[in-house]
Amino acid sequence: MSEGRQEYDVVVVGGGPGGSTLAALVAMRGHRVLILEKETFPRYQIGESLLPSTIHGVCRMTGVAEKLAAAGFTPKKGGTFRWGANAEPWTFSFSVSPKIAGATSHAYQVERSKFDNILLEHAVEKGAEVRFRVSVTDVLEDGDRVTGVRYTDADGAEHEVHARYVVDASGNGSRLHKRVGGTREYSQFFRSLALFGYFEGGKRLPAPNSGNILSVAFESGWFWYIPLTPDLTSVGAVVRRENADKIQGDPERALLALIDECPLIKEYLSDATRVTEGQYGQLRVRKDYSYHQTTFWRPGLVLIGDAACFVDPVFSSGVHLATYSALLAARSISSSLAGIVSEEAAFTEFEARYRREYGVFYEFLMSFYDMHVDENSYFWSAKKVTRNQHTELESFVELVAGVSSSEFDLDGAESAALRMKSKSAEFVSAIDEMSADAEGNMTPLFRSSAVRQAMQEGAQVQSRAFLGEDLGPDVPMFPGGLITSDDGMLWQPGPA
Ligand code: FAD
Repeated sequence: MSEGRQEYDVVVVGGGPGGSTLAALVAMRGHRVLILEKETFPRYQIGESLLPSTIHGVCRMTGVAEKLAAAGFTPKKGGTFRWGANAEPWTFSFSVSPKIAGATSHAYQVERSKFDNILLEHAVEKGAEVRFRVSVTDVLEDGDRVTGVRYTDADGAEHEVHARYVVDASGNGSRLHKRVGGTREYSQFFRSLALFGYFEGGKRLPAPNSGNILSVAFESGWFWYIPLTPDLTSVGAVVRRENADKIQGDPERALLALIDECPLIKEYLSDATRVTEGQYGQLRVRKDYSYHQTTFWRPGLVLIGDAACFVDPVFSSGVHLATYSALLAARSISSSLAGIVSEEAAFTEFEARYRREYGVFYEFLMSFYDMHVDENSYFWSAKKVTRNQHTELESFVELVAGVSSSEFDLDGAESAALRMKSKSAEFVSAIDEMSADAEGNMTPLFRSSAVRQAMQEGAQVQSRAFLGEDLGPDVPMFPGGLITSDDGMLWQPGPA
């Protein structure tokens, strides 16, 4: 039996956090959205430590934040690092600034099977349609334009679906990213490999840091130690490329040998047992995960999340980049479909903002991998960049948390929102001041103009999520660029 022509406004390939966030945002604008997902949900995924900007920014805009709050994920108040020249662990808290009341100064450590499922179900609730066990194999084209996708269903039958926009949110293993043009460029600096598994009965950091990510550098690389539930811990060794032989052969033996090299992780796992059954039963290896596609869009096709780029996991930026790029692309699609701005302008804005955000993490991470300095040097560098009156530790936290902490003051209801608005303005002007040192030179840690813009944009996203129209008029991020609508869902032409 032949099927009729299938047509949607938007087809999203992949139902991970990038795909489901985009689908929810575009469906909320009344567009017909189809998500095509290869697996059956819930399904396993790595990337369990989140940032406040995802939870309190983008997830608030889609309306899923309350569901996440009710899901019982481990609150993550910050990070604990045995990192750099100091032999002792040091801790940062998202709420380190005394000005922040703390209601949004946390993220979550999540079991991705649950987190991704909540986001996907939410997208469906917002109006998106989803099909599982369908694998997208290629795009359909009409001249230069992508006009849909070809996919194979669980029975091996081939289908075509047409759309005005195709969003590739199919992650690291994307089959479509080449079809956008350009190439996938792998980082020469971040070339590590990761070997990871799950343990029951691992120790916890003392309260109030028991939900923190613990990151421990050792001779061959570093470990992550993420408390997913009171009993379950995600443990991964990230080893430098020159030590790749250490994760060859039997993975069980390799992981145990690496744990042996790292006394702090060994102590934390001294009473623990490795999980050997279910979704967490297998040891997994990932490599070649730091890259970016040289082009992020062409007419009718856009890449978001890991399909477009990813960089080293030490600051847990993956889900943040996936959901933030989803927001940017959703604005571009909705504005273009509504005829508010041209497609070219909308997607140029998407790509510029996305590349800048990726660049900020990339540049900062490069400086963070200097192991010959202690944490005071990282903090000092951060204070030099931000040039604020806070302590060096607070300055560091403001950088690694994006804008998650310092523009919020949520200890009351309406009055707090107004206070936040004025704090946000103060914060943005403080960021403005930081772009040069006293002599007017660009600050050295990383491209300060990019940091300034990223922090301003993050401030806007989070403030808009709380304040909506009360935030006041937006300003373009780039000369001649676009601004966001009051509700943050669309682009608009900048002031003439
Ligand atoms: P994904 O989560 O990969 O989702 C893509 C979806 O597309 C999947 O469901 C897949 O089944 C589907 N799909 C794939 N191909 C097809 C197809 N052909 N047709 C249909 N569907 C398809 N990030 C963090 O935020 N915190 C961390 O602590 C963290 N740790 C990490 C550790 C390591 C070692 C690595 C490698 C990454 C880590 N990340 C972390 C990054 C994180 O895993 C990703 O950035 C994030 O999952 C990207 O989300 P996404 O929606 O782009 O893609």
